[in-house]
Amino acid sequence: MAQIIDGKAIARKIRGDIAAETERLAAEGVRPGLAVVLVGENPASKVYVSMKEKACGDVGIFSDEYTLPETVEEGELLALIDRLNHDPKIHGILVQLPLPKHIDDSRILEAISPEKDVDGFHPFNMGRLVIGKPVFQPCTPYGIMVMLKEAGIDLKGKEVVIVGRSNIVGKPVAFLCLQQHATVTICHTRTVDLPAKVAAADVLIAAAGKPEMIRGEWIKEGAVVIDVGVNRLPDNRLVGDVEFEAAARRASHITPVPGGVGPMTITMLLQNTLQSAKMSLDRLKTP
Ligand code: NDP
Repeated sequence: MAQIIDGKAIARKIRGDIAAETERLAAEGVRPGLAVVLVGENPASKVYVSMKEKACGDVGIFSDEYTLPETVEEGELLALIDRLNHDPKIHGILVQLPLPKHIDDSRILEAISPEKDVDGFHPFNMGRLVIGKPVFQPCTPYGIMVMLKEAGIDLKGKEVVIVGRSNIVGKPVAFLCLQQHATVTICHTRTVDLPAKVAAADVLIAAAGKPEMIRGEWIKEGAVVIDVGVNRLPDNRLVGDVEFEAAARRASHITPVPGGVGPMTITMLLQNTLQSAKMSLDRLKTP
């Protein structure tokens, strides 16, 4: 039976370190601050935003919420981001996605100063990540890498198979694995013979958003399984993209859903906000 990689426990430990470091920084005169921008009434977005704000409060990071109506003009949102870019109390700016259809996501994300882009979605930060010199790493991929490290899994020479090629999970995690000297395969809806690709994985990262689509019998004996998917079933249960029970009988390590990647994602947002505050303090100290 696979060993469970307990994201909750790893996240708790890291959040303790972040809280201590936040207080140390505050004593030097800089309290890390995160601005959270929420547009519209999407219930899931509201839940995510309140979870992020609570997590900030728990580690001593100051957070400020900006709630805008669904009908807000793109120009007004851009003006808010410009203000936050220049606000010295704010070290991180998070615009909760998805945005309403009349707003161009890329234009908004590119308006965030790369120095405050704690989600790591700005093309500058994406580009840095691709060339192997990341500044802010997108939170979910970053969390996955920390979990693998904490579980003692070395990616050097391993076959890593990623199911999903989104800009927020699949693509960035692929580059982070490559940087750790893995051989990386990225699968998507046009991939031919997904079961064979999955069966070749020493480390499988599932980020497709399809409930239990990866069958336990596809998993290679002894593989490591990181399940990013969060899917709600009609009976209200939350499941990942991998058939957990069957996969756990073959894998050496596996992440549960919930309690795996999810808690790590918010933790890395806190980590990036702290890092941004430290970088701003360094800039203040540099003559
Ligand atoms: P997207 O919907 O943006 O991307 C899904 C990707 O999976 C696409 O590249 C798609 O391929 C691929 N895919 C979908 N179905 C299949 C299939 N049947 N076979 C092969 N590939 C498939 O999702 P995200 O990356 O945003 O999120 C993925 C999952 O991770 C979701 O469940 C989401 O809720 C969860 N998530 C969890 C987080 C956490 O903190 N735990 C954070 C972020 C996401 P194609 O490109 O061809 O369409």
